[in-house]
Amino acid sequence: MTSVFICLRGTKEDLHLPSTNYYVYYDTDMDQAMERYVSMPREEAAEHIPLLFIAFPSTKDPTWEDRFPGGECDCRIPTHQPVLAAPRGACYGADHDLGRVHPRVMASLRAQSPITNLYLTGQDIFTCGLVGALQGGLLCSSAILKWNLYSDLKDLDSRIWAQKN
Ligand SMILES: Cc1cc2nc3c(=O)[nH]c(=O)nc-3n(C[C@H](O)[C@H](O)[C@H](O)COP(=O)(O)OP(=O)(O)OC[C@H]3O[C@@H](n4cnc5c(N)ncnc54)[C@H](O)[C@@H]3O)c2cc1C
Repeated sequence: MTSVFICLRGTKEDLHLPSTNYYVYYDTDMDQAMERYVSMPREEAAEHIPLLFIAFPSTKDPTWEDRFPGGECDCRIPTHQPVLAAPRGACYGADHDLGRVHPRVMASLRAQSPITNLYLTGQDIFTCGLVGALQGGLLCSSAILKWNLYSDLKDLDSRIWAQKN
């Protein structure tokens, strides 16, 4: 996966930039699209990228205008490897193939490690993505505190619910 970060000159109002994400698929059969893509010669591949994700992060950032009044200009094409400090640039962590969801693997990917006081957190101890990373944080905090933080969250939810009703 490669990201292109483009900075456009002007405000979101000038440029009519929406605060949204676009997932652009060129085929309804993703497996077929990927197989075709990876088997293409390099020169043709750029014309047949199977999936594009287009977002406008600055339009979602309430501090953007203060930090970059009028819009600064920059254009970069980085891979995820140096940006995320991920050795193979895998922004969604461990490969989510069938092996990853095998019960033995699921049971062994946990916050506790064989090294005393070394705990693991983030998406790789739960599942990929921001929500997976958040759950990984909760599991890791629970392991360190030896306390089920999910119970605390449930109690908090009940208290908030009671206050509202
Ligand atoms: C462009 C992009 C778009 C994405 N969009 C979505 C989306 O729409 N929805 C979604 O759910 N997920 C999305 N993701 C994935 C999401 O960002 C990850 O799943 C999530 O951030 C994983 O969280 P984490 O805490 O496990 O790891 P990370 O967020 O990668 O955190 C790991 C941290 O460790 C630091 N680090 C690494 N090595 C070292 C070291 N040696 N010393 C000190 N620090 C180190 C890294 O700099 C990083 O800050 C996207 C990712 C990218 C790159």
